[in-house]
This record gives sequence, structure tokens and C-alpha cells, in this order.
Amino acid sequence: MRPTGFGGVLLRETDAEYDEAREVFNAMVDRKPALIAQCETAADVQAAVRYGVANELELAVRGGGHAVTGDGVSDGGMVIDLRRMYSVQIDPGRRLARVGGGATWSDLDGAGQQYGLVTTGGRVSSIGVAGLALGGGSGWLERKLGLASDALVSVELVTADGELVIADETKNTELFWALHGGGGNFGVATALTFRLTRVATTTLAVLVWPAAAGASVLRMYRDLIEADAPEELGGGVVFLTAPAFGFVPEPLVAQPVVLAIAVYAGPADEARDMFAPMFALSPEGAFLAELPYAELQSALDSPAGFRNYCSAEHLSALPDPAVRAFCDRAGEILVPSPSQQAMLPWGGAVRRGSGDWPQAYRDAAWVARPFGAWTHPCSDARVIRWARDVCEDLEPWSTGHVCPNFVGHEGRDRMIAAFGAANYDRLARVKCRYDPENVFHLNQNVEPQWRC
Ligand SMILES: Cc1cc2nc3c(=O)[nH]c(=O)nc-3n(C[C@H](O)[C@H](O)[C@H](O)COP(=O)(O)OP(=O)(O)OC[C@H]3O[C@@H](n4cnc5c(N)ncnc54)[C@H](O)[C@@H]3O)c2cc1C
Repeated sequence: MRPTGFGGVLLRETDAEYDEAREVFNAMVDRKPALIAQCETAADVQAAVRYGVANELELAVRGGGHAVTGDGVSDGGMVIDLRRMYSVQIDPGRRLARVGGGATWSDLDGAGQQYGLVTTGGRVSSIGVAGLALGGGSGWLERKLGLASDALVSVELVTADGELVIADETKNTELFWALHGGGGNFGVATALTFRLTRVATTTLAVLVWPAAAGASVLRMYRDLIEADAPEELGGGVVFLTAPAFGFVPEPLVAQPVVLAIAVYAGPADEARDMFAPMFALSPEGAFLAELPYAELQSALDSPAGFRNYCSAEHLSALPDPAVRAFCDRAGEILVPSPSQQAMLPWGGAVRRGSGDWPQAYRDAAWVARPFGAWTHPCSDARVIRWARDVCEDLEPWSTGHVCPNFVGHEGRDRMIAAFGAANYDRLARVKCRYDPENVFHLNQNVEPQWRC
């Protein structure tokens, strides 16, 4: 059977491309959908949604495949695979980008860069634009440009009844509000339009020390940011196993290290001046260069093919005891592995957007983000415990809110805390209007029964 009006590619278990098509970023996820509908147009998405609903197939929506939860693929159901819808059109005059529902950040960053136009995007360039932005969307330049969702101008969306609607500041305005962080709850975005900002040049600096230096590095980084650092400066402090990057001295490769990262929306000489206190801590290796935006955005990509688990804690402050608690846990990262324990500076444009959107987590000063990546199932329990411990240790400084993109499935209370109770309630009303049967439930779910 073929969905009526569907012009894309349908894959079943017997097809040669099926196994590759059902793979997602997290190697722990091994699900076998009955059908993968590779859509090429919005009409294909409408046909696929109608067919899936009529045949009671559990629907998964797949963009870049980076949800650690594996929500982009369902077991026995139907995957609405958007990867063929990756086109990006830049309107340089109006500074707008219209992006297909299955485009990745590397598609958008590369297209915008030709005109010197950018927007906040994923720290990993293979993440889907829609998946990240609809979930709020945190990225390197957020202190200057805000979250990815802040730049949304409009979203074209196929709802649970197969209708194609537009949400923007004048049409379906409650839906437009909900799409700023409410994720894939309300339908399938077939195209998103973003406002772009002209950024003349961008600089990346990465400094490395042995992990034992972590506490002094993080304290200095905190002081630098909190001493009124310009919003052009973002980045973070990251514990990880040192990759064999050219600037990492040979004895540190494959050893536990701490990195201080500066992502600066400006030229290299300014970035060096701004980052001088970090250089004064005598790193054992350093990289600093102006990079084309798309190159910068992909410079620290995480490798695929590992088992993954992540969580996060948003902090109102980062006093010395919090620094100590965070750095003490870094000793438990599985080495060697691509696991990372990051502390990201927030504030600036992220904080300014508080109150406008369903994102109670925006007022954090810092975000702690353990991201586990490992190979063997025998390490599952240990890595998951480490990630949870990082967050539990920081609870005394937690704002209580969390960006849903940064966590796996941690229960309804955590989602209510993510948005704030009043926002969750309002999101549930929007959900009732556009998806009362919870057809789109493989996501950070807003439960319609809360309100319907
Ligand atoms: C290594 C790594 C690094 C990450 N770094 C960041 C980061 O820096 N900042 C950040 O904010 N997040 C980050 N994330 C989280 C990531 O943004 C979210 O998991 C996001 O949902 C992934 O989108 P995707 O399209 O790649 O994934 P998918 O698994 O394909 O999709 C995930 C979910 O997004 C929704 N979705 C995707 N496309 C659409 C669409 N077109 N219409 C409607 N719903 C859709 C669906 O609900 C789907 O279940 C990271 C994840 C990983 C694995």
C-alpha cells in the first residue's frame, strides 16, 4: 500500500536502504519501523501523516536524527523522514533564510555564510535545523543573537489532521508562540523562515590544559564572563579526552583534559585581547583563528556511532563550591571516549528573551551539560550515573528549569519545570487545538490530556 498522493520514497524492511535509513545518532537506539516515508514535498508530508493516522501507525518525525532519546524513529510505526527536504533559500536583501524541514545546520550555515549572514545554530553541524530550533535551540553565538528560535519569522507546519498551516506573528499566533521551544508537539514543520544577522567575521579560540587544572580554568573563565564580557563572546569550558588536534601537545592526546573555548563574533585580535586572562593561565596548547562561520560551526562536531546519554542543569550562579563540585565529577568521565562535561555561559540575548516565549529556562547564568558518548553496553550504567551525578551535585545552584533539547526523557515534572507551569498549561491548550489525540508524541511531550 502507498499513501494516496505520496510522491517520495517508501522504505520497508526488505529494502536495501532500510537499515541505513533507520539509523540515528545514538547507537543505543535500534528500532525497526514498519515504514519509512522519505518525503520530498509538503504534500508528501500531508499524505504520510494522513496515511499513518488512518492506519494507526505510531508516527516519528526524523530530521537530523540527533535526539538522544531516539524519538526520530519508531518501533513498528512510520517514520516521516524529512532529509530529502534540505533546501535553503537566502534572501540577502531582506536578510531571511527559508529552510526545508529536513535541512541540517551545515546546510543553513553554509548558505548564509556566502552573504555574511548568520543565526544561532547547533554546536554540532549535522543536527536538524527544525529539531533544534523548535526545541529552543542553544548555540555558540546565543549570548549575542539569542536562542535559535528567537530568529523564527514563520513556520509552515502539517498538523495531525494533515492540514498545512502557516504560523507567524499574524497567523495562528498561539501556535507560533508554542513553536518557540515546544518542539515537535504540534506537527511536522515542512519549512521554517529565519531572520539573519550580518556578522562580518568570527573567531574560534581553544586552549588546552590537563584536566587537573580544571578548577582554576573554570574559575578564570567565570570571572572573565561575569566581569561584563561582551555578548559577542560565547563558548564554554569542557572536560573531555583530548582529540589528536594539531594544537594539542602529543603527550596530552587521549588524556583527560580541560578546554577553554571562545567563540567570538569579531576579529582575531579582539578575541585574543578578550581571552588574555585565559592565555595568562599558560595553556599547554592553543588554537586561535578567524574562521568562516560554517567552518567554525562544524569545528567541534561530535562523532556519530556512539552510545549516548545526556542531561543538564541550568544554574543561577557559579560560585567556587559549584566550580569544585563540577570539576570533581569530571574525573569520572570515561577515558578514552568522546564524552564531554561542559559548562556554558548564558546571559545576554538569551536572558533578554525571557517572558516572551514558553522558555522558563532562559534566565540561567550558566548551563552544566554532561554528554556521554561510549562504545560498549557494559558502560551504560556507569556513564548514565555520571551524567546524573553531575546534575545532582549542582542542584543547590539550579534554577529548576531546563532546555528540553539538553535532556533525554526525564518525566513529565521535568518538562513542566522546563517550560514553567503556566507555560506548560498554555502549551497543552495549543496541543489540544492542533493535536488532541497526541499523534505527535515521540518528542519532549506536552500531554494534551493536561488540558483537553
Ligand atoms: C551531539 C549533540 C549535540 C547537541 N548539541 C545541542 C546544542 O548545542 N544545542 C541544542 O539546542 N541542542 C543540542 N542537541 C540536541 C538537539 O538539538 C535535539 O535533540 C534536536 O531535537 C535534534 O534534532 P534532529 O532533527 O537532529 O533530530 P531528530 O532525532 O531527527 O528529531 C528529534 C525530534 O525533533 C522533532 N523534529 C525534527 N524535525 C522536525 C520537523 N521538521 N518538524 C517537527 N518536528 C521535528 C521531532 O519531535 C523529533 O522527534 C544536541 C544533540 C546531540 C546528539
